[in-house]
Amino acid sequence: MDKVILLKPYFSHTLWGGTKLRDEFGYDEPGDDIGECWGISAHPSGEALADSGEFKGLKVSELWNDHREIFGNAKGDRFPLLIKIIDANKDLSIQVHPDDAYAAEHENGSLGKNECWYVLDCPEGGELIVGHNATSKEELCNMIDNGNWNKLIRRVPVKPGDMIRIDAGTVHAITAGVCVLETQQSSDITYRLYDYDRLQNGKLRPLHLDKSKDVITVPAAPVNEQVIRGEAAKDNTVTELVKTDYFTVSKVRVNGECSFETDADYICASVIIGSGKVFGTEVKTGSHMLITAEGAKNVVMSGDMEIILSRV
Ligand code: ZN
Repeated sequence: MDKVILLKPYFSHTLWGGTKLRDEFGYDEPGDDIGECWGISAHPSGEALADSGEFKGLKVSELWNDHREIFGNAKGDRFPLLIKIIDANKDLSIQVHPDDAYAAEHENGSLGKNECWYVLDCPEGGELIVGHNATSKEELCNMIDNGNWNKLIRRVPVKPGDMIRIDAGTVHAITAGVCVLETQQSSDITYRLYDYDRLQNGKLRPLHLDKSKDVITVPAAPVNEQVIRGEAAKDNTVTELVKTDYFTVSKVRVNGECSFETDADYICASVIIGSGKVFGTEVKTGSHMLITAEGAKNVVMSGDMEIILSRV
């Protein structure tokens, strides 16, 4: 079995996308509205494909369904994670996601969506929308009904290297100029709360106010539980950034030779800066890969780069 399988991403073009994914991450994708690179995905809305080794050309869902040995002892009816790079050239709508129980009941058995963002780039003084200021469900509903958005939403300052935890039920939005690597459950269920009254093809995009009111957590979790400030990572050491019931996300800054042991069945890895090798396979900024069960026990990297690792 190969120890690493490179992946070919799926790209999503959006109202708020731009050109940074091509210009700065080197993806060969046309258009000036590239919003998201789904680097590691088995979601039917956009699958990544194996791009190296004996399984080249297969979808990640096919690897999961037909070649489960790649994923060690992992169980489940679907590949659980989705790793994206998101370039917000304009503000994204203010939104919230349901948890597994609500999604299973109201969204055809879909998974819910817990997610987190590693901030890759943001403007000087950049802010993200994380949480809200309502103290009761009643106050929340009043603010939504009256369009009192400035009072409702909570803005938090962020810097590159920060990790933002967005549990299901958290009001959130990525703002213009911010670029993040997102690790999330494999789900595409979003309830849009407010879209700045923007038009797409002459029309407002639909809002989902009732479902939003159902799922928003009140009061919001405190900022210090949701924003984990980036610290200087030690070279060639795995630094854990966030751990939830759904995923653990870590960072490694590779400088020269680097190897480490893990107890993961498999690892999703994404190069965010620089270039190097993973088990001898050349990778560079923007490369996404699966480190298979064979490789995950003892991961070997070299070069000069930073990699984000996501695992269940
Ligand atoms: Zn989201």
